[in-house]
Amino acid sequence: MPAQPTPSVLSFEEARAVVEKHASQIVATHHESCSLLAASGRILAEPILADRDFPPFPRATRDGYAVRASDLKNLPANLRVIGEIKAGPVEPIPSLNSGEAFSIMTGAPVPPGADAVVMVEYTSVRGDSVEITRTVSARENIVPQGAEAKRGSVLLERGTRLNETAIALAGSVGKAKVEVFSRPRVAVLTTGDEIVEVDCQPGPAQIRNSNRYSLAVQIERVGGIPELLPIAPDEPKRLHELIEQGLHSDLLIMTGGVSMGRYDLVEQVLTDLQAEFFFTGAKIQPGRPVVFGCLRPCGAEPCGAGTPAREKPAPCKYFFGLPGNPISTMVTFELFAKPMVEALSGMRPQPLVFLHAKLKSDIRVKTGLKRFLPAIFSGKYEDSHVELVPWQGSGDLAAQAGANCYVVVPPDRERISAGEWVPVMLRWTTPM
Ligand code: AMP
Ligand code: MG
Repeated sequence: MPAQPTPSVLSFEEARAVVEKHASQIVATHHESCSLLAASGRILAEPILADRDFPPFPRATRDGYAVRASDLKNLPANLRVIGEIKAGPVEPIPSLNSGEAFSIMTGAPVPPGADAVVMVEYTSVRGDSVEITRTVSARENIVPQGAEAKRGSVLLERGTRLNETAIALAGSVGKAKVEVFSRPRVAVLTTGDEIVEVDCQPGPAQIRNSNRYSLAVQIERVGGIPELLPIAPDEPKRLHELIEQGLHSDLLIMTGGVSMGRYDLVEQVLTDLQAEFFFTGAKIQPGRPVVFGCLRPCGAEPCGAGTPAREKPAPCKYFFGLPGNPISTMVTFELFAKPMVEALSGMRPQPLVFLHAKLKSDIRVKTGLKRFLPAIFSGKYEDSHVELVPWQGSGDLAAQAGANCYVVVPPDRERISAGEWVPVMLRWTTPM
C-alpha cells in the first residue's frame, strides 16, 4: 500500500486560517508598468501619493455667493456683488471684503476673505447687489484646501486592487501609467479516467471536462493566468509527470482524485513527490476532500508552516487538490484557492466576510459540516431575500447555473426557519 499523508481534516475556519497564513507570507516581486485603463482589476505595486493638496484650493460645493458669514447676522442682508468666479479661473482672484459677495459656481475656488457660500436658492439679485435671506455658518458649502488629502499623503497602498475608484484616484494625481504586479501563472490539472475534452463526443459513462473551464474563469477573475494542462488519467506515472509539469507555474490547482476511492491517486502521487500537506480535508459541504500543501520542485527542504517565505528564497510551490464534483471545485476555489492566487498577484490579504439576507423557506440539513448551499438572492430594492435552489448535490451544475450565491449554514444548525437572517456568500456575476 503506497504511503498516504497523515489525514488532517480541519474545520472550515481552521482550514481558512491555514490558507490565510500562507497567503500572508507570500511576497510578490515581479511588476510591470501599465497604462491606467489597462490596469483595471490589477494589483498596485507602488503606493499612489497625492501630488498636491486635495482639493488644491478651498472648493465651493454649491452654486451661490461667496460671503463672510459674519455679514449675514441681520437678514435680509444686502451685499455688493464684485464679480463672478466659475470653475477653473485662470486669473488670480481678488480678496473679498466685508459687505461684498462674489457670485460663485460649484467647483470654483472660494476667494480669499470669504468663509462661506450661500446657496443661490436663498438669494435674489438687486441691481449690483444681492439680497440674502438666510444665514450661513463659517465654512458652510466649502471644502477647505487639503481636507480630502494633504500633498504627499498615501491615497492608495501597494497591494490594492484597482477598481474604478482607485483608477480615478490614480488619474486625479496624474498617473497615466501605474506599476502593477505581474499576474501569477496558475496551472490547472484536471484528473480522472472518465473525463474527456469538451469538444469530444463522450461515451455513455464519460464526463466532459467542465472544471477546467470554471477554474480558468475563476483564476482569471482574481488576477491569475490559467495554464491548462492535459487531462491526467487515474494512473500514477502520467499523473506524476503532469504534476511536475504543473510545478513550473506559480501555483498548481488539481481537480478530482482526492476522495477516498481506490483510484483517487492525487494524494498518493503528491506523497511520492515529498509533498507537505497542510490539510487533507475541511469540514464543509460541498468540498470536504479539499487538499492544500506545498512541494519543492527540486527536492529542497520542505516549506515549514510558519516559516516566512521571504526568509527562504527557494520557491515553495503551493498546490491545491480540489474535489472533482463541479460545485465542490467552484466552492473550494472560492474559499481556499482564491486567497492564494490573490496573494501571488501581490494583493494584500482580505478577510472573507459574508453578507446577511432573510431566508425565504426553511432549511433542514444534517449537522457536522459547514455548508455552502447554492441559492438565489432576489427581490427588489430593500425587499430582498434568499432561497436555496433545489439540487441533486455537488455535481449538479444545472442547478448551480440558476443560483447566484451560497447560503452559509453553520455546522451546528439542523434547521433554519424562513424569516431568519442567514449569512450569504455572493458569487461574482460580472467580470472585474
Ligand atoms: P472525484 O473527485 O475524482 O472523485 O470526482 C468526483 C465527481 O466529479 C465524479 O463524478 C467526476 O466524474 C466529476 N469530475 C471530476 N473531474 C471533473 C471535471 N474535470 N469536470 C467535470 N466533472 C468532473
Ligand atoms: Mg476521479
